[in-house]
Amino acid sequence: MKAAVLVEPGRIEIREVADPEPGPGEVLISVEGVGICGSDHSVFSGKWAAPEYPWIMGHEAFGVIEAVGEGVSDARIGERVVIEPNVACFECEQCRMGRTSACTGRQSVGMNRPGALAERLAISERFAWKAPDVGEDDLVCVEPTTVAMAGLRRLGDRALDRRVLVVGVGALGLMVVMALKEHGSDVAALDINAERLAMAQELGAGPVFEDERFDTVIDTVGSPGSVTEGFEHLAVGGTLMFLGLDNRPMPLDAQSVVRRQAKITGSLTYDHPGDFEHALELIGEGLNPGRVVTDRHPLGEAQRAFESVGSARGKTWIRVREG
Ligand SMILES: [Zn+2]
Ligand SMILES: [Zn+2]
Repeated sequence: MKAAVLVEPGRIEIREVADPEPGPGEVLISVEGVGICGSDHSVFSGKWAAPEYPWIMGHEAFGVIEAVGEGVSDARIGERVVIEPNVACFECEQCRMGRTSACTGRQSVGMNRPGALAERLAISERFAWKAPDVGEDDLVCVEPTTVAMAGLRRLGDRALDRRVLVVGVGALGLMVVMALKEHGSDVAALDINAERLAMAQELGAGPVFEDERFDTVIDTVGSPGSVTEGFEHLAVGGTLMFLGLDNRPMPLDAQSVVRRQAKITGSLTYDHPGDFEHALELIGEGLNPGRVVTDRHPLGEAQRAFESVGSARGKTWIRVREG
């Protein structure tokens, strides 16, 4: 099969690679489209090392089940699915507590097992969800929407019933804005990129007033600059949640956190199966996260897609196969 493989940091080639085989309990998916997000870009750029080179990236995928492994009903062949790319072990302590996002044996498509930027992908059937009857732009946004919605779930309704500030409205931030609007929150957004901010405003995020403080701040970036900005706008007793995976030290001292009586928290991906179930339900009912898609590329242009993702106004995805 054809795949977009990262041969070294920053360089993708389209190559012929061996087809995956569906193991017991797995389905083989003919991949149609794959979204690109910040974590994929970190692998592309070499900021996060790939487990090996050449490496197949990509995890925000949808496609059609083409074959099934042992123990899976053939009734699923032909079903259009969206993948939940973090496959939990269901055996570790975290999994047994229901926190599969922290699974110690987690297999992540495109991170520690081969990714979705290929014509075919094998995955456990429990992690191949029946796609709702919505457009392709929506399907490619299911996974990042789930990340955003899981963050809101973990914050809890009380934190969302106030005015909420979203710092950073790249693709994930835009999903957060949409999920907040869907919840009925009053949302404001900040970003250093004016085009992205305009897009967040189209989705209903308002401006931040001078010296305004928020009880709830969601930082989707985690850079030194965004942390400073977010904390500056955090009210006394407020909650600052991080969704971005920046690894630089934070410009925050204990004294400031204590004086602000701030609650600082992080939210990693989502927990199986509730978060995907909930996101798919809302998307099936018309949430339409595909509104934030601005860039679509064919598989042959994967290199260009990754190079331009940082400057894209909204979400970028790669069409692997015509649906
Ligand atoms: Zn993602
Ligand atoms: Zn586990």
